[in-house]
Amino acid sequence: MSRYQIALLPGDGIGPECMEATHRVLGQMVDRVEGLDLQFTSHRAGAELYRDTGEALPSAVLEDCLAADAVLLSAIGLPDVRYRDGTEVQPTMMVGLRRALQVHSAVRPVKLYRGAPCVLKDTGPGIDFVIIRENLEGLFASFGGGSKVGDEVATDTLVVTRKGTSQVSDFAFRLAQRRSGRPSDGKKMVTCVDKANVFQSMAFFRKVFFDVAARYPEIEAEAVYVDAMSLYMVQNPWDFDVLVMENQFGDILSDLGAGLVGGLGVGPSAEIGEKHGLFQPSHGTAPQLAGKNVANPLATILSAAMMLDWLGDKHDDPVCLRAAVDLEQAVEKVIADGNVITPDMGGNASTSQVADAVCDALVVEA
Ligand code: ATP
Ligand code: MG
Repeated sequence: MSRYQIALLPGDGIGPECMEATHRVLGQMVDRVEGLDLQFTSHRAGAELYRDTGEALPSAVLEDCLAADAVLLSAIGLPDVRYRDGTEVQPTMMVGLRRALQVHSAVRPVKLYRGAPCVLKDTGPGIDFVIIRENLEGLFASFGGGSKVGDEVATDTLVVTRKGTSQVSDFAFRLAQRRSGRPSDGKKMVTCVDKANVFQSMAFFRKVFFDVAARYPEIEAEAVYVDAMSLYMVQNPWDFDVLVMENQFGDILSDLGAGLVGGLGVGPSAEIGEKHGLFQPSHGTAPQLAGKNVANPLATILSAAMMLDWLGDKHDDPVCLRAAVDLEQAVEKVIADGNVITPDMGGNASTSQVADAVCDALVVEA
């Protein structure tokens, strides 16, 4: 029996609607798949809770997240809710959660599904690469210390450690082993994206990356400067398989990646550590769409598919691995059919109609 405890954090803005849709799809999955049992706990956390209680992530909620097999989060943060020191709630709470769960590698798939809107006229042999972002240090290490603001000068600190870089690089190579290679010729490769020509920290990142690469001789390793990578992602995205990079570069390039393959509404993400996994859509809370039943739930549903894949891989559980594939295929089918899609992708269906369509598309071989 594949039994997993999942902590759900619906969050703010469109978060709860996208989570409700995803929860329903996962419930359908459990009903249909013999031997799959998912137990859910759901908690309030985020900006609205902070506004009501002065706390964004209560310790009891954090404890449940630490005890769960995986955490599925929708979106957190509201533009008008800020911590007293003026810092936005969203990064502060998210950084706190990431640090508590020690999720060192963030995974953002950039995959063009058939039928999804794409800004490129020619999509070549297809777009299917993954951005791995170092998730705990880099320029974001400044949160909670490391930044200085004076009257004339403000500085932030970029931290690159051997441990953090080794962990994220190793994660990238292990992921490349599981994937089928780049679309243009099936070659498995990991690309280090940096600015090693200018910054010592980045030269160190690249050096540690190649130290790790030496342990994976069967996978090609290369390094590309981040400015050049921004060009290649638009010109020849099919020539990439797995990209690994420092935190801030990953933040920026993953939005570029989402823009390439249909927008934020279909961009899932996973944040993975040695012990914990945190899964959430790559979009924010889009407050102007909240409560209208028009938000695209597919990014959250695809994040749930990534969660099932991670649980299946971690626990060597074929039932869960199969469920992950089935769920992604159901989403692919809904996008390809093109009849039930939300306005951000050019359709006029509601959030709940998309959830219904994914449930209908779930064809599971028990
Ligand atoms: P954050 O700072 O929380 O990341 P953001 O400013 O990047 O937020 P998002 O909330 O991610 O903004 O969304 C930007 C815009 O993209 C939204 O205003 C909305 O128009 C669109 N968008 C994002 N997610 C969705 C979704 N799931 N469905 C439909 N549209 C979306
Ligand atoms: Mg954003």
